[in-house]
Amino acid sequence: MNPMPNSRSLYLRLLRYVRPYWRIFALSLLGMVIFALTEPAMPAWFQPVIDGSFIDKDPQTIFWMPIALVVIFLIRGIGSFIGVVAINWVAQRVVMDLRRELFDRLLVLPTRYFTNATTGRTLSKSTYDVTQVAQASTEVLAVFVQDGLALIGLLAWMFYLNWKLTLIVLVITPVLLPVLKIASRRMRTLNTGLQRRMGDLTHVLEETIGGHKVVKLFGGEDYERRRHHEIANWLRRLNVKVIATSAFLVPAVQVVGVAALGVIVYVASYQGAQGHFTAGQFVSYFVAMGLLFRPLKRLTKVNEHLQRGLAAAESVFALIDEEAEPSGGAKSLDRISGELRFEALSFSYEGEEPLLRGIDLTVRPGETLAVVGPSGSGKSTLINLIPRFYVPTGGRILLDGVDIAELAVRDLRRHLALVSQEVILFNDTVRANIAYGALGHADAAEVAAAARAAHAMEFIDQLPDGLDTLIGENGIRLSGGQRQRIAIARAILRNAPILLLDEATSALDSHSERHIQEAVESLRRGRTTLIIAHRLSTIERADRIAYMQAGQIVEIGTHQELLARDGLYAQLHRAQRGEVLSDVAGESLPAS
Ligand code: ADP
Repeated sequence: MNPMPNSRSLYLRLLRYVRPYWRIFALSLLGMVIFALTEPAMPAWFQPVIDGSFIDKDPQTIFWMPIALVVIFLIRGIGSFIGVVAINWVAQRVVMDLRRELFDRLLVLPTRYFTNATTGRTLSKSTYDVTQVAQASTEVLAVFVQDGLALIGLLAWMFYLNWKLTLIVLVITPVLLPVLKIASRRMRTLNTGLQRRMGDLTHVLEETIGGHKVVKLFGGEDYERRRHHEIANWLRRLNVKVIATSAFLVPAVQVVGVAALGVIVYVASYQGAQGHFTAGQFVSYFVAMGLLFRPLKRLTKVNEHLQRGLAAAESVFALIDEEAEPSGGAKSLDRISGELRFEALSFSYEGEEPLLRGIDLTVRPGETLAVVGPSGSGKSTLINLIPRFYVPTGGRILLDGVDIAELAVRDLRRHLALVSQEVILFNDTVRANIAYGALGHADAAEVAAAARAAHAMEFIDQLPDGLDTLIGENGIRLSGGQRQRIAIARAILRNAPILLLDEATSALDSHSERHIQEAVESLRRGRTTLIIAHRLSTIERADRIAYMQAGQIVEIGTHQELLARDGLYAQLHRAQRGEVLSDVAGESLPAS
């Protein structure tokens, strides 16, 4: 075994998860011990059967031995049952505890984690890795206890029966090991080669099938044919080689093994002829020797399970140890008027160029500020800094004159409502989606009022169960415009003084567009609103407009002022008059 440098700490850490269930754990060990002890009982049973029942024809033995066999297997069965059930009970507990801990961590991870880690990898930690930890450690334990004890028991029985012979066995067996090792290494190399070639074949097939047009158009048929036939030929030769090698190795190993066995049989028969070894003992001895193989094999393979379990444990613990989002300062604001101020705000994503550079801006309470500008200028990033999804690298953001870094993150977010481009809906009822986060606090009338204000009631009433309709995974049964109105209703119900809105870029038909426009109107009433705007109608209705370019606000003012100034905004406005701004700007915003 070649444990990794930190294996020890990993074991110890895993053990901590088992500790609360140590009673059931001990029970499982007991079951395994009982099971293991019946292993030498089987060869031991043969001796009296042959010597007593068959040779001496002793009636007592003839009567009792079959009963003994049943009893042995009964005990074995009970031991196995207790061992298996108890260890799996503990393992499932550990699985659940790990899963819960992973999920709890997931809820407090910073946004940075989610942008860096792939969803698939994180998912598989909770679904796959966690079970791997439990399965592998259960397996390892069972092998160590059960097979370890069985091996010791069998050897002890063999020594008891005939210590001289056992010494000879112990000397001869290791001689066989190199032979076995060479044979298995040879097979493994051949099999790996076979797999690789098989991969090559699939590769060529995939390319030819997927790229059939290119192959045809460029006349690559001959080239592909040559490639394919060459690999197919390789495969043929390798396959024959594998079969031939295995056909040779299996009997070869057997002959060597049997040669060793011959020596042992010779010694045993010699002793038998001298009256030192009875027929029953001889049979019992060979049965015990035969039974040695299984536990031996499992013990030599235990490292595989161990490494697999440790690797999985490492992956699970890595997520558990992932640093949580800082919970922020200690201050909390009770009622706020909703003034939002940015002071010399700058920001860069980890290891990248500064994205926001020295933004100074005050949004007055109740004011609606539309942020416009080319894609990639940092509009979404600016909005993401307000709920502290990311932490500014310079400058600060003040809410009612208080640096948001001094506020508890939970308290800060309480004052914010966010409607993003990508509406996230949960697989639940429309009602639960609107009341999300306020579950249990919002009564039916409030939810309905929010839905009405968001102009969502029109279509909700058409749904089979109204507000109680299940909307399916991520709301796939709803249109984009409908989903957006649900998100707006959610924000209305939240009734936060500050509203962050990332207007959808995707084109909506004019009917939904008008609905959404009206919904947004009722949402932003009386709230400080920061809106990334793509539609002229939205922009023109805003109190002020900030034009962002390369992480800076280059123009700010009312629609009229900016037009009068005849700068970038005016240019944009002229170019896109009557059109959806984003379409002409060629914007396709990254999801924020
Ligand atoms: P806008 O909303 O104005 O289109 P964004 O704020 O979405 O601009 O993006 C600004 C730039 O930051 C883009 O170039 C984008 O690729 C980059 N960016 C966005 N999110 C991340 C992230 N999590 N890590 C690194 N770079 C990012």
